[in-house]
Amino acid sequence: MKRVRCLQFPRLVSDDRLIHAVFTREGGVSEAPYNTLNVSYHTDDRPEFVSKNLEIIRDAIGAKDLVFMNQVHGKEILVLRQQDFDGSWEPASADAMITDIPQLALMVKQADCQGVLLFDPIKGVVANVHCGWRGNVINILKSVVDKMKSEFGCLAADLAAAIGPSLGPCCSEFVDYEKIFPEAFRRFMIRKAHFNLWEISRHQLLEAGLINKHIEVAGICTRCRTEMFYSFRGEGETGRFATVIMLKGEPSF
Ligand SMILES: [Zn+2]
Repeated sequence: MKRVRCLQFPRLVSDDRLIHAVFTREGGVSEAPYNTLNVSYHTDDRPEFVSKNLEIIRDAIGAKDLVFMNQVHGKEILVLRQQDFDGSWEPASADAMITDIPQLALMVKQADCQGVLLFDPIKGVVANVHCGWRGNVINILKSVVDKMKSEFGCLAADLAAAIGPSLGPCCSEFVDYEKIFPEAFRRFMIRKAHFNLWEISRHQLLEAGLINKHIEVAGICTRCRTEMFYSFRGEGETGRFATVIMLKGEPSF
């Protein structure tokens, strides 16, 4: 990893078959309120700045290509398989990506939502999930684990997971919680209308079959740390930071 400041999870970083990074808002070229490493074209930031920022990220991790989605808080999962990937892609409307292709970096864009990384060291498969509270409500994490099982033969117990910087329990107030959250989320309500979304995600991963010691949680609240990360709740009009994962190896495209 060169130059650009980023965070890495201790367990994931110890495996030399993959590269991952949670980039901060530092190290890019965008101007306020998108300063500086904004990776979303769906803002009023200048597209040429976003393109430059994407190039900075691609260079930093040494990827041949960087794939991202039009994130819509839905349940679509994009599967990119080595056997039928010719190198061309368009941003699809989806909220998760799974791949077994080396040198193809998967990027999720966030400003309070969770970027959740998954890695199967046995099958050599990675996934990157955009999971906001709506993603928790529809349990996209379980859908992704199920897809990794059905498409690549992964075993949930082999998977390593990492939950990135995102809205913490300190700032996760949902005044409409009775309307928007299922009853089962109530046990994660730490005080009136405040929910621990990190623990909801951990719980959903455990329910999907993962082992607790394979799950890492950054424990960093984006709204409390706007000097480092973009926060939609904290700032309103702002950028999106990047969480990226990639398998190392010879590219097949
Ligand atoms: Zn907070």
